[in-house]
Amino acid sequence: MFDDKPLQLELPVCQTLLANESALQTLLGRFFNWRMAERDELFGPLPRAQARKIALLATPRAASPPAPGVGCFFSGGLDSFYTALSLDEEITHLIYVLGYDVPLHQEALGREVVHRLAEVARALGKKLVVISTDLRRYSDDLVHWHMYHGPALIAAGLLLSSEVGRIYVPSTYTYEYLTPSGTHPLLDGLWSTGEIEFRHHGCGADRAEKAALVGRCDVALEHLRVCWENPGGRYNCGECEKCQRTRVEFEVSGHGGALRSVPGRTSLADLRAMPVDPRTVKFWKACLAMAERQGSDPLLIAALRQRLKASPSKRLRRAIHETLLTLRRGLKRLRRDP
Ligand SMILES: [Zn+2]
Repeated sequence: MFDDKPLQLELPVCQTLLANESALQTLLGRFFNWRMAERDELFGPLPRAQARKIALLATPRAASPPAPGVGCFFSGGLDSFYTALSLDEEITHLIYVLGYDVPLHQEALGREVVHRLAEVARALGKKLVVISTDLRRYSDDLVHWHMYHGPALIAAGLLLSSEVGRIYVPSTYTYEYLTPSGTHPLLDGLWSTGEIEFRHHGCGADRAEKAALVGRCDVALEHLRVCWENPGGRYNCGECEKCQRTRVEFEVSGHGGALRSVPGRTSLADLRAMPVDPRTVKFWKACLAMAERQGSDPLLIAALRQRLKASPSKRLRRAIHETLLTLRRGLKRLRRDP
């Protein structure tokens, strides 16, 4: 879509997917051509050219009947637990892709994640499917994971057409905070084939509301995985912004002390002193809104308000992003040409 050349596919493509090809290109083009500043921040340094629709040359094929199983992409995070538990009666398979959020070279962490997900699947009575791939070794230099993680999940899901006829993609954002992203309620269904229907799920609940449901599930409290920094290969470090925020979200939802998988505790002083990451302000706002609705501890509400008041202005956030972007590009150049 950036170099304006037609795409010729040698293998036949399901006619259902081909029927949505034009809509897919329109939506992806709108996402990629989003305002440059936001695009760079989220998608990395893509070509500065506008994405255009290209010709797709492929032979259509008829679909086989869909398999009876129903899958859910499942990393053990809050979004995946929420979808798996909300749709418990329908979902038969939990699908984890090793090599997407946990790099393949982190072997010990990968083994721990798969072991814990197997425990979860056993407790919930689901079949766990683990797909291992080195796709990111190639894709990371071409397109930012924020945009590519959706198509990458879909590609993994398409391998399972002999077992499942529908796969749910758990949401990250609520409807009011949706922005261009690799998984999106407008996008995911367009990747459906005659064999597998993809459905985005969960935009109606914010993280604190998801925690209210997930906090009632004992195996989730034992194995919930939210940390993506994983210092020292730890499953959840308990110290990073995401670990601390998740603890607060469970506190607000009424399950604070029960979350065993995230070690440590976050005091009100910690909460007030924690640096504000501009990318997560929306999650903290949702957390405060739920705390106010629930009538949580007034000291906790005051600390959350104080924290949000300290969040940087839009102009400062932009300056921070541009600086980070420049640093990231410099580091990438250094890695390529030390
Ligand atoms: Zn952490």
